[in-house]
Amino acid sequence: MPWLWLRLMVAAVLAAGGGMAGDWLGAMLGLARPAALMGVVVGVALATWVDALRGERLMRWLSGAQETDPPRLVGFWGEMATRVERALRQRERQVVAERERLAQFLSAIEASPNGVMLLDANEQIEWCSAVAADHLGLDAQRDLRQRVTNLVRAPAFVALLQSRSGDQTVQIPRPGERGLLSIVVRPYGDGQRLVLTQDITERERAEAMRRDFVANVSHEIRTPLTVVAGFVETMTNLPLSEVERRRVLTLMGQQTRRMQSLVGDLLTLARLEGSPRPPVDTWLPLARLGASVELDAHGLSAGKHRTGFDWGVEVQLAGSEAELLSAITNLVGNAIRYTPEGGDVQVIWRQRADGAGEIEVRDTGPGIAAEHLPRLTERFYRVDGSRSRDTGGTGLGLAIVKHVAQRHGGELRIESTVGQGSRFTLVLPANRIRLSQQAPTVAA
Ligand code: ADP
Repeated sequence: MPWLWLRLMVAAVLAAGGGMAGDWLGAMLGLARPAALMGVVVGVALATWVDALRGERLMRWLSGAQETDPPRLVGFWGEMATRVERALRQRERQVVAERERLAQFLSAIEASPNGVMLLDANEQIEWCSAVAADHLGLDAQRDLRQRVTNLVRAPAFVALLQSRSGDQTVQIPRPGERGLLSIVVRPYGDGQRLVLTQDITERERAEAMRRDFVANVSHEIRTPLTVVAGFVETMTNLPLSEVERRRVLTLMGQQTRRMQSLVGDLLTLARLEGSPRPPVDTWLPLARLGASVELDAHGLSAGKHRTGFDWGVEVQLAGSEAELLSAITNLVGNAIRYTPEGGDVQVIWRQRADGAGEIEVRDTGPGIAAEHLPRLTERFYRVDGSRSRDTGGTGLGLAIVKHVAQRHGGELRIESTVGQGSRFTLVLPANRIRLSQQAPTVAA
């Protein structure tokens, strides 16, 4: 503790100096003793005064914002200034580090796709992430300290807050928007509550689609199954003539084939969803696919339609042969199934100026009203259910075609005019098309 010795020494030297000076002056006046005492007092007072001045400089610095360096002092006050400054700077560094940690913590919460809101014991908003504000239609800054139930009035949410039972979930519509929110409220601290929000619009939509799909599949399978069961019962219980027996067996065969096509299409869809994207380096001659499609088409039409096929010259496609064949066969099959006898079905290959290729399937059938076009590729969507079923349709064909097109990086385009016919175009991107000879091109 050098400052302590220094401080005592200075006081002792001043006191001694004062005493000696008093003694010397007092000796001349014949009052040596009282003058020496007086000198000691003056010396100590001088030391105290200098001390007070230094202390006052340090005090002034401490009363300010401590933005400048502390006053340069020696001894006790110098030591005091250094230590106080060190403690202050350390505290400042701690505060900055805490603030940074808090900012990082808050930005991690902000990065979450789910919303977070903190409520005090009076249901006033203490803090609200941008996502929670967006979900609940709030302003994360302006609405701070507001009572949340004055701003979010969904009855289920208000009831949940009022019930004060911990850890419950409610679903409410998104305020001011279409969609659904899932909200969890959890108590914490001293009566405060944590509100977690999640947008479940997509999840609910997917769940509804899954439910619809299962219901549709069950319905589609149950109908032919009921018919077959009825025929089995008839054959078991009634003595049928040979002609009747044959007729019943034919009808049973029809229903069984219907179930077979449905299961086949369901398996195709499942394979499309579960398998990797088709290769871009496996090249297939379009003419080979075309020959197979034509064979099916002639069988289906049984000579009742005028048909024309143009597969281009030496066109090769990159992708999955089974998928592309299934897509083109579906489009051509639909054209023949929905076009009445005597109608025209044409299949034309085109390469566009941008290198992409199109397989266009055109018919002179009944056409499709515009309001149905956007929904045509949905699973089990049919414009005319009985016509579809009568001709062996499963309602899954265009869903498969669209899937195949997308998996190959292309798309399915549908144009149709009621009373005139339809045009389904399977578009494939340039990287999946190769020509051995130059085919005719058209403007994109
Ligand atoms: P489906 O097995 O019922 O034919 P798709 O998914 O292939 O199922 O087609 C969906 C619906 O689109 C059909 O039910 C039918 O109403 C309509 N459709 C498809 N192709 C044609 C076409 N070429 N002409 C008229 N309607 C069509």
